[in-house]
Amino acid sequence: MKTLFEKIVAREIPAAIVYEDDLVLAIRDINPQAPTHLLIFPKKPVARIAEAAATDEPLLGHLLLKAAEVADKLGLKKNGYRLVINNGADGGETVPHLHCHILGGRHLGWPPG
Ligand code: AMP
Repeated sequence: MKTLFEKIVAREIPAAIVYEDDLVLAIRDINPQAPTHLLIFPKKPVARIAEAAATDEPLLGHLLLKAAEVADKLGLKKNGYRLVINNGADGGETVPHLHCHILGGRHLGWPPG
């Protein structure tokens, strides 16, 4: 069965796509927690960072570099932004397909709730 994000990759579910290449897709989060809130994820359905394999290392590097590139493209570089990966129940993960949140456009508090 496809994950939610695989369905978005397959255009079976609509999304506001901000960036796409062979390996990753970046979309706007449907329930934004900041003025700019994107999700960037591998097209390959790695469930979560804890399940990533050593062979995923190039993919994970690509994901982070593209997250920074997309953040820059959307004007977040100057004031900064936050990348978040929620892993498992205590981490707040709700979609079991690895994704990195890109949050910016306001000052973000620390520690997170
Ligand atoms: P997480 O809680 O870290 O697993 O993040 C999942 C994120 O996916 C949440 O921020 C949701 O708002 C977001 N989300 C859920 N469904 C969609 C969708 N159809 N399109 C865009 N974002 C979504």
